[in-house]
Amino acid sequence: MILVSACLVGLNTKYNGGNNFDDKIFELVKKGVAIPICPEQLGGLSTPRLPSEIINNKVYNKNNKDLTSNFVKGAEEVLKLAKELNIKIAILKSKSPSCGKGIIYDGTFSSNLTNGNGITTQLLIDNGIEVISSDDDKKIEELLNNI
Ligand code: SF4
Repeated sequence: MILVSACLVGLNTKYNGGNNFDDKIFELVKKGVAIPICPEQLGGLSTPRLPSEIINNKVYNKNNKDLTSNFVKGAEEVLKLAKELNIKIAILKSKSPSCGKGIIYDGTFSSNLTNGNGITTQLLIDNGIEVISSDDDKKIEELLNNI
C-alpha cells in the first residue's frame, strides 16, 4: 500500500479549495494500492484556508499566524496510519509545506523556492518511509510498472 497526497487524486483539499489532479496517481487509487491523505486537514485546518509556508522550521500562514502545531499534528496522524498499515512508500505533492520533498516555498510568499522538505515528508523520512515527489515522473513511472 502507498500513501498519496489527497489533492493529487482530485480531492479538493488544497488551501484554495482546489486540487492537483494527476491521472497516474489516481490510477494507483483505482487499482486499490494507494490511500489518499491530506496532512493539513488531518491537522485540523479548514478548507479553503490561507496559504502557509515554512520559515526557520516553523509554519506560518500568510497572515503570519503560527500554525506549526497543526502541521505537526497532521504529520503525526499520517505517520500513525503509515505505521498501522506498514506503509513504506508515499507519493506527496511537490513544494507544499506539508508534502514537499527536496524543494519547498521559501517562506516569503513570493513563489520563490528553497531546498527543504515539508513537515509530513520530513517525519515520514525520519521514520524510514520513502517519499517520492509528485514531480518525480521517472520514479512514479517505475512504481506503476512494478504494480
Ligand atoms: S497538505 Fe498535502 S495533501 Fe493536503 S492539500 Fe496540501 S499538498 Fe495536498
